Amino acid sequence: RFGLMAGKRGVVMGIANDHSIAYGIAAALRAHGAELAVTYQGTAFERRVRPLAEALGSNLILPCDVAEPDSMAEAFAEIGRKWGRLDFLVHAIAFSDKGELKGPYIETSRANFLRTLDISCYSFTDAARHAAGLMDQGGSMLTLTYAGSYRVMPRYNVMGVAKAALEASVRYLAADLGPRAIRVNAISAGPMRTLAGSAVGAARYVYRYSRDHAPLRRNVQLADVGGAGLYFLSDLSGGVTGEVHHVDSGFNIVGMPESDPAAV
Ligand code: NAD
Repeated sequence: RFGLMAGKRGVVMGIANDHSIAYGIAAALRAHGAELAVTYQGTAFERRVRPLAEALGSNLILPCDVAEPDSMAEAFAEIGRKWGRLDFLVHAIAFSDKGELKGPYIETSRANFLRTLDISCYSFTDAARHAAGLMDQGGSMLTLTYAGSYRVMPRYNVMGVAKAALEASVRYLAADLGPRAIRVNAISAGPMRTLAGSAVGAARYVYRYSRDHAPLRRNVQLADVGGAGLYFLSDLSGGVTGEVHHVDSGFNIVGMPESDPAAV
């Protein structure tokens, strides 16, 4: 195969369906020649994920529940046995109890705080360690975050705290792995209509508000995030690491939105 990703092999974690951000990135990578291993959360997801992964040319489709102690090690061990080495990692995984993505942040329970940080943040560090063990010729890792990490967004609550920790871990991982020519970056995506996205209490309001007030006056699409993913996971971004890059139609630059954007 030809393209920016020709000869590169990588793992994509976080496809649930064809609306998943991970799927958008995987499709862009495949279109440019990448060979993909795909992990899914568990049997409930397999029925949907397997045909999507097969259509992306993957013949390494593995279960990996990041909250289970041995699951990650088993998935990467199998990838190591089949491929021996890796070039890239895509991590697009997050979870929090829906019941705490409404109402105020102050009501967050300890149990859900720990679970949210475990699945949405620690899993990237864990995956990075396993993947780095297979990146003997350098590599590139990418995770997904949201601007609720550094600004208060309605009902994003503990997920915002988890994303702040995730973005900090991108910087620490970039420092750890840089000397081995492994780059680590994050895309901060604008709100998108996905399974995880719709779990946030104010999702429809946030989606509409962001569309109406972003400079581009539209929500981002899978192809937008896919294109940025291709940049980060290919050699095009060879000099870039530790970065959190917005793909949000420019929403983050707006200080005070027009009261009536349609009138501008
Ligand atoms: P999605 O629901 O399609 O993807 C979330 C994925 O997380 C699913 O594939 C799910 O199986 C996986 N997951 C959850 N718990 C898991 C576990 N224990 N083990 C393994 N996998 C697990 O939604 P998405 O919007 O594509 O989310 C992907 C990433 O993008 C998340 O990190 C999310 O926070 C981030 N993000 C989403 C938006 C948005 O508006 N949708 C915006 C910015 C960032």
